[in-house]
Amino acid sequence: MDYTILVNNKNLLSSEYIPQDLVEINEPMGSKLDKTYVNKLNIKAYHAFKKMQKDALKEGYEIFIDSSYRTYNYQKKIFDKTVQEKGEKHALKFVAKPGGSEHQTGLAIDIIFRRNNKMIEEQNENDPEIKWLFLNAYKYGFILRYPKGKEKITGFNFEPWHFRFVGKELAKKIFSENITLEEYYILKNRT
Ligand SMILES: [Zn+2]
Repeated sequence: MDYTILVNNKNLLSSEYIPQDLVEINEPMGSKLDKTYVNKLNIKAYHAFKKMQKDALKEGYEIFIDSSYRTYNYQKKIFDKTVQEKGEKHALKFVAKPGGSEHQTGLAIDIIFRRNNKMIEEQNENDPEIKWLFLNAYKYGFILRYPKGKEKITGFNFEPWHFRFVGKELAKKIFSENITLEEYYILKNRT
């Protein structure tokens, strides 16, 4: 598995792409708490998350995985439904195309958290849990994938809840240089 894989609306995965090394994970899923839905994630990313979750808890932050692996067809359903309800322009702006979601790699997670025994479903950049993740996720190999101010580069709106496992080495580079995965590839291809 290439943990640095670049997936976006210009670098699409094929409908046949199914990642290896997926494990079933047992995580509460907030609004999507549905016992028939099996959440899956890349095994290395999952172990890294568990470590991050444990350390977050030491600070008093209870973080969980809301959404992780999604199949091509699942993404297609979300996309088609959004096109139907809100038009293609809206869909292209707010939803990844089929094959354009890195959730299909099994390396991306949407974070949810619990505070005072209540699941918080609307995350924003001022939440202390999110702030802690912004500063610490790289230590576990995760990056904030769609940062604020980089919307034109990533092609996605700011998503403070969406983190992507890229491995510790690249995560540290991306964090310390304040770049995105797209910019990492642009810089890499120049040299
Ligand atoms: Zn996401």
